[in-house]
Amino acid sequence: ILKVIIAPMKREEKTAGFILILHDITKEQKLEEMRREFVANVSHELRTPLTTIKSYTETLLDGALNDEEVSMQFLNVINEETDRMTRIVNDLLELSRLDNKEARFNKKAINLSKVLAAAVSKMKVNAKKKGITICENVKEDLPLCYADADKMEQVFQNILSNAIKYTPEGGNITVNLWCESNFVITSIKDTGIGIPREDLPRIFERFYRVDKTRSREFGGTGLGLSIAKEIVKAHEGEIEIKSELGEGTEVTVKIPCIV
Ligand code: ADP
Repeated sequence: ILKVIIAPMKREEKTAGFILILHDITKEQKLEEMRREFVANVSHELRTPLTTIKSYTETLLDGALNDEEVSMQFLNVINEETDRMTRIVNDLLELSRLDNKEARFNKKAINLSKVLAAAVSKMKVNAKKKGITICENVKEDLPLCYADADKMEQVFQNILSNAIKYTPEGGNITVNLWCESNFVITSIKDTGIGIPREDLPRIFERFYRVDKTRSREFGGTGLGLSIAKEIVKAHEGEIEIKSELGEGTEVTVKIPCIV
């Protein structure tokens, strides 16, 4: 995108020529567009639960409160929608702290296999509920990484929680951890629904979801992968996603190790 400025050059009160100034504003324009889209997304994401809360509250006030069974049902929905809003706001605050470099990273020389094991053990209950098996191939004697254990655990939890959410009952998740060319590499692979090829390039964008209804059903905010990406970036690492529709998804995280 070019911004064109044409300025006349005067000599002795007469126009002697023109100066043409070309500004490449592609980057500014794209940033502005992304900002607008983000604000629109945030508003929409928060308005949806608010609309539900409002209409259920109104129905209760209009008399539904007299029916105990209906009241309980409605209050449960209101409670769930409030939880959803809290999750969205918390994720947004986390992203904003990461964007503004305000997030405090407590980096230490740590063994990522311990961090991964902690994340896996926390997610095992959810996996079990869906009859999903998590298989771990973790090399214990790994070089250390200079990393924030809590933040890295969050990265692994976000990826594992997706693997569980988007894998049907009875599926498998394989977790691998190894070291290669001065990087500790984690791969989390599932046998789930997969991601269409055309959606892959946008999957780390904020609020980008292949199927909004499905994500909502599982309590997703559409921000999990964006948060993971920002944390990995703050560790000078890389995060990649490979997927085959109907076959499964593999997310790889590479963190430089201390040499
Ligand atoms: P959400 O809260 O919706 O899960 P994320 O940012 O974590 O948001 O992920 C963005 C989208 O990427 C998801 O809505 C889903 O469509 C897709 N996705 C992420 N991980 C997987 C996976 N393991 N299998 C299939 N789709 C996935």
